Amino acid sequence: DLTVGDLLRRGADRAPDRVALKARTPDRSDQREWTYQEVLDQSEAIARFLLRRFQPGERVTVLAPNVPEWWLLEFGAAMAGVVVVAANPASKLPELRHVLADSDSSGIVSMSEYRGADTRSMVAKVVSELPFVRETVFLNDLPGLVAAHRGDDPALPSVDADDLFMIQYTSGTTGPPKGAMMRHRGVVNTSKFATERFALDEGSVWLNCMPMCHTGGSVHSTLGTLWNLGTMLMVPQFDAGFALELIETERANWITTVPTMALRLLDHPSFPSRSMESLRLHACGGAPVAPELVDRVEREMGCDFVMIYGQTEMSGMICQTFRDDTLEHLTQSVGYPLGPINVRICAPEAPEPLAIDEVGEICYKGFSVFAGYWNNPTATEEVLSADGWFRTGDLGTIREDGYLTINGRLKDMLIRGGENIYPREIEDQLIEHPDVAEVAVIGLPDPEWGEEVAAVVRLHEGRVVDQAQLRAFLVDRISAHKVPRQWFFLDAFPVTLSGKIQKFALRESLMRQDA
Ligand code: ATP
Repeated sequence: DLTVGDLLRRGADRAPDRVALKARTPDRSDQREWTYQEVLDQSEAIARFLLRRFQPGERVTVLAPNVPEWWLLEFGAAMAGVVVVAANPASKLPELRHVLADSDSSGIVSMSEYRGADTRSMVAKVVSELPFVRETVFLNDLPGLVAAHRGDDPALPSVDADDLFMIQYTSGTTGPPKGAMMRHRGVVNTSKFATERFALDEGSVWLNCMPMCHTGGSVHSTLGTLWNLGTMLMVPQFDAGFALELIETERANWITTVPTMALRLLDHPSFPSRSMESLRLHACGGAPVAPELVDRVEREMGCDFVMIYGQTEMSGMICQTFRDDTLEHLTQSVGYPLGPINVRICAPEAPEPLAIDEVGEICYKGFSVFAGYWNNPTATEEVLSADGWFRTGDLGTIREDGYLTINGRLKDMLIRGGENIYPREIEDQLIEHPDVAEVAVIGLPDPEWGEEVAAVVRLHEGRVVDQAQLRAFLVDRISAHKVPRQWFFLDAFPVTLSGKIQKFALRESLMRQDA
């Protein structure tokens, strides 16, 4: 059982001089590269830097976009036994405060700015409110800080595969965002089985477009690269034109996207003139993938399409298709479970497994199941049984051939451009507006984003407020991608007998109005 640190040491042992990581930015301001040996050396230095400030097991929140230092910090923390809490770089102050406070983080590692916004001030403000956050480190200063402290290094602790590796906040339908705890064993083995199934030549080049604050970046791409002894291209954020340029100029062999990204690549004006000749595989998932998209990727990019189905609570990936699967498998299933994961389909609220092809909740048990939600046994018990079965909140079937299908969701969640959005979080904010009496946030189908956030609002009698005012009310409270793009005002909601808003009825009536 390897830890994340062992996996990096394996890479440095087998391919010390191979380039593991390349930074690439559209303006070419960062073109740095690190060999496996350099990544190991720097990560060890960071581990020692961290150990002078934190105890193994303590949490450190990382609030940063996709920069190469994320890699070094991820490995450094893993080797120090310090648990990284991955915050979304788009977080607004209340969201960041929740993550730091809920995870009881002793430190925060951040960038000075993010997309032009002054992160330094936001971090300073939130840290001044939370005295337990003892240390603030800016990634921009990290190389200097690490170099300055090389001398008096403490020894690295021994880290176990059962130890916590990372906490990612997954939001929730029943309350504020919850920290899903991932262990070394889960992420190391999940990325191993996933990468083996990709069956690419050793030393392949992977273009990573997935955010490091999600498993797509920090587990799937990062640890997958290590298993392949390959090279990862790190871009600051997804930019279709730049991604296409890099596939051609860096001769990338594999890429992972969510459906919105895949569409943007195919529809980009430069796509027809870019060579996709080096590309062997395009993995896509994280949200429902339309059959036409699968077909377009294979035909227009000329590489194999691999469907991925995953969830943070299962260390990222759960099912994948195989490179030689039929088009029927790629378009009608989300793949076959990775490694020795047990899968069963259960009727909601009933433990008895259902038969082949019967629709129920998809449940898992196995090496990659998370360690629960940080400091939240009640929420953990709702999804994780005492004997280790995890309930995904997804509806699906197991087919005769063992492949899984997804037929819908039990959980109140929408996926916009691969980013999960929990309506509850937005509703909780909107209801605080003095003019809002009742609110429901739902996902409406959208050709580009998959789903788009829509808010349906009932105002208090006699109040007048428009969508621009409500949007302005939200912008400082929630990340920009969660702010509803469509607004509807109603006098009465469709409700169930028990008085709960019937979201499916609401969605259907709004879609009829739209059409
Ligand atoms: P990441 O952590 O990188 O965002 P992820 O999208 O795999 O990875 P989550 O953010 O936890 O993980 O989202 C998991 C949910 O996304 C699943 O429970 C499911 O509802 C949905 N999902 C993931 N993959 C697919 C897919 N291929 N088809 C349909 N829905 C999917």
